[in-house]
Amino acid sequence: MSETLLRVRGVEKSFGGVVANRDISLNVADGEIVGLIGPNGSGKTTLFSSIVGYHPVDAGSIVFGNKEITRLRVPQIARLGLHRTFQQTRIFTGMSCVQNMQISAPLVQGKGPVSLFAPFPVEATEKLEYLLAFVGLYEKRFLRGGELSFGQQKLLEFAMAMMSGPRLLLLDEPTAGVNPTLIDYIVNRLRTANDEFGITLLVIEHNMHVIMTLAQRIYCLAHGHMLAEGSPQDIQDNPQVVDAYLGAT
Ligand code: ADP
Ligand code: MG
Repeated sequence: MSETLLRVRGVEKSFGGVVANRDISLNVADGEIVGLIGPNGSGKTTLFSSIVGYHPVDAGSIVFGNKEITRLRVPQIARLGLHRTFQQTRIFTGMSCVQNMQISAPLVQGKGPVSLFAPFPVEATEKLEYLLAFVGLYEKRFLRGGELSFGQQKLLEFAMAMMSGPRLLLLDEPTAGVNPTLIDYIVNRLRTANDEFGITLLVIEHNMHVIMTLAQRIYCLAHGHMLAEGSPQDIQDNPQVVDAYLGAT
């Protein structure tokens, strides 16, 4: 068993009276692909936001590598190699794919206002072109983000997240709203990023076929608490999970 890369212990998060996450614990080992499922509103996106430092948690601890990151904010956590993508993508639709990649480069991040007119380092240009080719967008690199299909925008966001050489990526519904042929391609790219670049993945996914074939282990949330954890087969056979999806719990 490889070492634990992400360790979440007893995390709690409420918004006013709504308890979005209640006593959540999970582990992700270095090199794994782990799934996070659960009905709408069960607290999946909130947990991602807590892990990456988007908002402070009310209780609990989050450790990445050997570092306590519970009280750190997004830029500090990103510099350690932990990034997330969004359910609704956060690309810049008025900028080209290349420009979107440029502003995602670690040299530019966190260094004040971005100048798109300053010369861009050659190595970073090679890297961004390589990554755009990796996600099948090289030929479209001068198109604006807004000219891409929704699935292609998700691929661009994935490539942007890879610009800084992450160790762990949290992907929020990478195939939601994407047409079926592109879903297979996205799954293939995620698996290849894991196999070939060694990027560990924690993936929220609603498409059961996708998550059952992609993930090695799966956690299931319901009403803000951890309902079940296990292999894809365990999860599929778990009556509580089935009930949660049918709205019976
Ligand atoms: P999921 O991603 O599993 O669909 P969310 O984490 O988005 O679930 O939401 C969990 C619960 O927390 C929901 O009841 C949602 O309405 C609530 N919630 C999430 N974010 C906020 C917020 N910023 N302010 C208030 N309530 C929120
Ligand atoms: Mg969500």
